[in-house]
Amino acid sequence: MAYIAMARKWRPNSFKDLVGQEHIAKTIENAILGGRLHHAFLFTGTRGVGKTTSARILARTLNCTGGDPLVPCGNCPSCKDIAGGNPMDVIEIDAASNTGVDNIRDLLQQTQYTPMIGKYKVFVIDEVHMLSKGAFNALLKTLEEPPPHVIFIFATTEVNKVPQTILSRVQRFDFKRLSTKQITGRLKFICGEEKINTDPEALGLIAEKADGSMRDALTFFDQAYAFTGNEMNAESVRSVLGIPPNDLYFSLLESIEKHDLKGTFEVVDKASSTGVEYGPLLEGFAKFIRNSLYIKVGGITAEELNISDGLFSKLGSSAVELGNGDLLRIAKILTDLQGNLRRSSNPRLLVETAFARMAYLDRLTDLRRALAAINDPESQGSKKKSS
Ligand SMILES: [Zn+2]
Repeated sequence: MAYIAMARKWRPNSFKDLVGQEHIAKTIENAILGGRLHHAFLFTGTRGVGKTTSARILARTLNCTGGDPLVPCGNCPSCKDIAGGNPMDVIEIDAASNTGVDNIRDLLQQTQYTPMIGKYKVFVIDEVHMLSKGAFNALLKTLEEPPPHVIFIFATTEVNKVPQTILSRVQRFDFKRLSTKQITGRLKFICGEEKINTDPEALGLIAEKADGSMRDALTFFDQAYAFTGNEMNAESVRSVLGIPPNDLYFSLLESIEKHDLKGTFEVVDKASSTGVEYGPLLEGFAKFIRNSLYIKVGGITAEELNISDGLFSKLGSSAVELGNGDLLRIAKILTDLQGNLRRSSNPRLLVETAFARMAYLDRLTDLRRALAAINDPESQGSKKKSS
C-alpha cells in the first residue's frame, strides 16, 4: 500500500475533529442547524491553524446528502466527488497567484451555474488579501447579492490588508494559534490509531517546534515517523528535527550567570560538534530566555507559553539569578545576532563576541551603577550629608 502522509491521512473530516477552533466550529454548526448560514465567510489567522481545512470541511458538510447535518458521511456522491480531489462544486483559488481582476471575473462567471452534485457551489479564495484593488471591486457586487446556491469562503493570514468594503460583507472568524497541549493531544490520538509507541517528551518537542501550527506539527511528525517508524522517542525526534536539547540552554544560562566566558564557548562548541547549527541554537536560546523572563515576571501558564509542563517547572525552579533587565538585554543581543548572522562571512566570531557580551553583562551593569553612585552624592553615604 502506498504511504499516505499523516498530515493528509489525519486531516479533520468534520468540525468535530477540528482541534483548537471550537469557538468557530460551534458557531458554524449552530448556523447550519438553525438554517441561518451566512453566504460569505472570512477565516483569518496565522498559517497552519486550520483555515483552508475548515473551508473544505464546510463545503463537505453543506453538500453532503448523508443523514447527519454536521458530519460528512464520506459515501454520498458529493463526499466522494470532494474526496476525489477535483470537486465540481468546490472551486479553490490561491489569490497569491491569481491577483488580477480577470481571475476574479472568471471565477464570478462560474457563480451563475447551479451546483452539479450538491446543494451549494462553494468558492474558496486563499490568501484573499493578495487580490488587486480591481479584483476586490469586481467581487463586491456579487458579494452584495450572491445567487442563493453560492457560498464564499475567504482565507487570509493578513486581515489588515483586506478592504473594509469586503470585511463589512462577510462573517469573520478569527482562528487561534494552537497550544502545545492541543497539538500533543492530537498527535497522541494519531499515535494511538497508528499504533506508534512514543513518549510525551517526543510529542512535546514536535509541538513546541510547530509553534502553534497544526500543519507544521503534522509535517514534523511525518519526518520523525519516516525516520523512527513505530518507535518514536525524544532523542530521535531531536536528531531528525535538529532540535538542540534544553540542557544545552540551561548550561548556557548557567555559564552566563557565572560570567564564565570559557564555559559558554565550550557549550557552543559542543552543540556545533553534535550538528546543531547556529541558527536553531540562537533561535532556541532566545525562546528559552523569553520564557524564563515570562515565568520570572509571573502570572503565565505553560499552556500560554506553548511549552511542556516539565520544562515550565524546570525553568521556574532553575536558579535564574539574572535580573529581568539582564534577561531583556540577552534577548536583545540574541535578536540582533540572528539578524546579523545571515549576512556574516564569519558567523563563529560573531557568535563568540555576542556570548562574550552576555557573559559580561552584569559587570557592565555594576560599572554603570558605580558611575551613577559617583555622580549622585546622595547615594555616597552619611559622611557627605554631615557637611
Ligand atoms: Zn456525504
